[in-house]
Amino acid sequence: MTDKPGSAVPCQPSIHAAGYSRAFRAVEIASITVYAAMMVALVARLVPYGSDFTWLLVAAFLCGFLAADFVSGFVHWLADTWGAVDMPVIGKALLRPFREHHIDPKAITRHDFIETNGSNCLISIPTACICLATPLGPGPWQAGRLFVATSLGAMILWVMATNQFHKWSHTDRPPTLVGWLQRAHLILPPAHHALHHRAPFTRYYSITVGWLNWPLDRLGFYPFLERLAAAALGAVPRSDDLGASAAWALAQEDAARREPAEPSLAEPR
Ligand SMILES: [Zn+2]
Ligand SMILES: [Zn+2]
Repeated sequence: MTDKPGSAVPCQPSIHAAGYSRAFRAVEIASITVYAAMMVALVARLVPYGSDFTWLLVAAFLCGFLAADFVSGFVHWLADTWGAVDMPVIGKALLRPFREHHIDPKAITRHDFIETNGSNCLISIPTACICLATPLGPGPWQAGRLFVATSLGAMILWVMATNQFHKWSHTDRPPTLVGWLQRAHLILPPAHHALHHRAPFTRYYSITVGWLNWPLDRLGFYPFLERLAAAALGAVPRSDDLGASAAWALAQEDAARREPAEPSLAEPR
């Protein structure tokens, strides 16, 4: 795979692209419609509190942005690492686009608005229900309730925007404003995202803005989760994406790298 996202992969139909059915496209269209209606309803509920709780709503909005960056990375890690594309429901809806993306990083730039954004609208609908069901009026914990509804609402707004930001990071000539936002690192920059596209695709999973990639990488957050899951479930990470033997070899390599070196008895003191 190439270092620059999508730079040298021939544009040919991906094996995973065949999994995109008309039925699922209909689900995506319905999801976008429902999601948009719910977000309009949420904004209408929050607007009356804008003047009395301005800074709380701003803080909640920014927390939602960071939460979306984390969620985008966590879901991306799950989809890249575990499961198989022929699994019911999530195989087509979630795993297929991520696996297709490693094989053909430019495919995302050929997806229209519905294919780009439908899945994220679908997975955001339960959270939108929570936002709309949260009571916002005066009473105990009003500030807390407003914070929860606003931050969750902002999170799913940025989750919805994530695939679009990701698509732009692979687009050769994005719109001028988008290029400026990428250079300012206010949305996912192409050079930053290129670090994920180095095989075996085990770093820099966050794709909303990528601010959390460096700290999570330094902490070894995802390798730690993989060791926990492998120990608990006996599963080999990436066995569907890389093939069982390649994934096993990679896991062994990782384990060997982390094992402390044995002190040599013959070594002079
Ligand atoms: Zn990936
Ligand atoms: Zn990408």
